[in-house]
Amino acid sequence: MSTSGLLIVISGFSGVGKGTLVDLLMKRYPEEYALSISATSRAPKDKETEGVNYFYKTREEFEKMISEGRFLEYAVYNDDYYGTPKDYVLNEMKKGKNVILEIDAQGGLQIKKLFPQAMLLYIVPPSAKELMRRLIDRGRDPLDEIMRRMKRSLAETEYIDRYDKVLVNDDLEESFQELRGMILAEQKRINELSEYIIKIREELLDITKGE
Ligand code: 5GP
Repeated sequence: MSTSGLLIVISGFSGVGKGTLVDLLMKRYPEEYALSISATSRAPKDKETEGVNYFYKTREEFEKMISEGRFLEYAVYNDDYYGTPKDYVLNEMKKGKNVILEIDAQGGLQIKKLFPQAMLLYIVPPSAKELMRRLIDRGRDPLDEIMRRMKRSLAETEYIDRYDKVLVNDDLEESFQELRGMILAEQKRINELSEYIIKIREELLDITKGE
């Protein structure tokens, strides 16, 4: 039992709009949430910034960080490492912030093993056709890369039923409100449970003291 903030894992198919939802959450409620920035051994892409999108490391630096136990979880994707730095996440949770991890399903399930109370949210598109349209409209990737991402989405469907909640991202504002609602409901559930546990513990202690 703890009074710390929630740990919220947000995963979803490439192009589904999870980054946009997370950006909205951070913009509208900056006091409540902290976004974990992952480390990666891949090179920065156009318009990406160190410390904003990722912390960029060489493979050697990344492997050194693994051996020093500085990641909560890490995964290899396309021959590159991606990992969640431990200190930042734990410190922000201690401060009472709800920490958001925008990571893949492999990472999400590793987090759930470490933190059974973590809330795992999976964002899906209304249809595969719509997902493809979003990837094309984004204009970032050539068609072969888009197909690779679609195939990866197919592989990720294996893990979706191990997530706590699934959110269909159709209309952005509606999905955002639904996401926020899910988080508030989980917060309420955890707070009520904590209060109850404190109360029942005191009562049990009281009755059993001296026994
Ligand atoms: P991209 O190279 O497109 O930025 O990211 C590739 C994949 O790595 C995405 O599915 C993204 O969610 C995932 N990813 C990003 N950071 C992390 C992390 O810290 N841990 C894990 N397990 N996956 C991550």
